[in-house]
Amino acid sequence: MKTLFECENMASLPTEKSSASFWHSEPSEFLLGHRTTAALPKEVDVVIVGSGITGASAARSLAEDEAAKGLSIVMLEAREACWGATGRNGGHCQPLLFERGPDVAAFELRNYHAIKSYISDNDIPCEWRALPGCRSFWTKALAKAAAKNVRELQNADPEIGKEVKVIENEDEIRKLRVNGAPGVTLTAVAASLWPYKLVTFMLEKLVKEHGLNLQTKTPVTKIEPLNPNSDDTAKGLRHTLHTSRGPLHARHIILATNGYTSHLLPSFTTLIVPERGVMTSLLPPANSTRLAASHGFVGANGGNPIHDDYLVQRPFNGMPNPRGHLMFGGGNVGKTMKTVDEDDDSVVDWGSVGYLKKALLGLLDLGGETEGIDELECTHAWSGILGTSIDQHPWVGTAPGEGMEGVWLAGGYSGHGMPNGALCGKAVVDMMLAQEAGLPVDAVQEQLVKSGNLPRSYLITKERIERCKRLDSVEVQDVKRLEGLKHLTALPGLKQQDDAKL
Ligand SMILES: Cc1cc2nc3c(=O)[nH]c(=O)nc-3n(C[C@H](O)[C@H](O)[C@H](O)COP(=O)(O)OP(=O)(O)OC[C@H]3O[C@@H](n4cnc5c(N)ncnc54)[C@H](O)[C@@H]3O)c2cc1C
Repeated sequence: MKTLFECENMASLPTEKSSASFWHSEPSEFLLGHRTTAALPKEVDVVIVGSGITGASAARSLAEDEAAKGLSIVMLEAREACWGATGRNGGHCQPLLFERGPDVAAFELRNYHAIKSYISDNDIPCEWRALPGCRSFWTKALAKAAAKNVRELQNADPEIGKEVKVIENEDEIRKLRVNGAPGVTLTAVAASLWPYKLVTFMLEKLVKEHGLNLQTKTPVTKIEPLNPNSDDTAKGLRHTLHTSRGPLHARHIILATNGYTSHLLPSFTTLIVPERGVMTSLLPPANSTRLAASHGFVGANGGNPIHDDYLVQRPFNGMPNPRGHLMFGGGNVGKTMKTVDEDDDSVVDWGSVGYLKKALLGLLDLGGETEGIDELECTHAWSGILGTSIDQHPWVGTAPGEGMEGVWLAGGYSGHGMPNGALCGKAVVDMMLAQEAGLPVDAVQEQLVKSGNLPRSYLITKERIERCKRLDSVEVQDVKRLEGLKHLTALPGLKQQDDAKL
């Protein structure tokens, strides 16, 4: 067991056992235990490590890019396919429009539209439902700070600004079925979905139609540069991946390992930190009506903004519960266990679950028969590992350090990967293919930024890494937030200058 402030320790490998996510209740028979070839190939052009939204999107980008024709591609996954955060999350795809600057907002909108088109072009049965995203702020200070951030967005980028409305009128807030928050924001572009079904559709298609070699239950334990004078390097191979089933040599490695990244890339130990989150699927009260929006609840029950709970509702005809599960996560108010620097998702914090089972009855007008009920029935409670970035921005690009040429990374979405992972996976592939074609990676990165295909703040650069060394560790940031202290950094929905008003 790790102790407080031990975040210099690198992450462990994904645990063999994990808590049971609702999203895995209808697994892909084709992918369970899938190994496209019985044996691991010995030499590969590109190895993708990880089979969540990032790994699947990287593989899809390779499959769709002429420049990648002829490259052999293997995906290695420690567990079953899509058994990490993507198979355990809140099922919410909501671009953050006013929290992290207009370039991030525009990029997240692009991700949203890219996912939406892929789903509709392929008619993917993943319960995609476009609906407004409602974020309620439960203290006046938080509501004021959110309204200010929205105003700033509207000044900086009026076009994107049109997508968000601030609502402070009590009656209008009640119409959204929110019980008594002083302010809400309503974002027009958001959706709920069954993320496992989206990603496993992509993976099945890639294996069946595009020659992807997927190897599940194959953890990569270590990456080592090959001896520069060996015969293998003469063939263009650069690294050995040690796995539970023996070694393989690769020319390029794409790490799509999110919260577990530092196990293979120890230099990322303080930059992307594993954090355990909790989710529940709850049965709504009998005869309740379906919610018209997805919901985020910031600062509910006590005013601390780290209390950031999130909710989407499944379709009403979804079996086995025809009333539509309430997929509700967060639960920091009730937590009894440490969450930061924790990478074991076989463990569930029942304190958080207890809070989640009760809280919705107070936060929302769920309708239906609620009299005499003080908690909702819970069908599943599970945990998942987020990759929390020390500066809240994802990391996309080449792994730093000597001997790392050909190792690429996309991850660290800080609990917000659905409107990021698809195009971050594509961006890292664009960089890799440009390098294959003999182009300088710096120039390609600049091009990606200029064309809006990657925010500058996501690039892995020496300067960014140096800057991050001067920040509080993720663990210290969390402790300060929990204690409601000043000097908070990059708090979701709040900018530093607003902290003093809390
Ligand atoms: C509880 C919870 C709720 C969330 N809710 C939302 C939400 O509502 N909306 C949203 O946008 N985001 C949400 N997120 C965040 C989102 O799920 C992630 O940002 C996103 O899924 C990350 O995708 P990924 O593909 O990069 O990583 P993952 O989906 O975590 O995939 C990484 C994969 O790599 C594999 N792996 C790791 N190391 C190795 C290794 N050494 N060898 C082989 N395989 C390895 C893992 O087993 C895993 O399958 C939530 C996260 C959690 C945990």
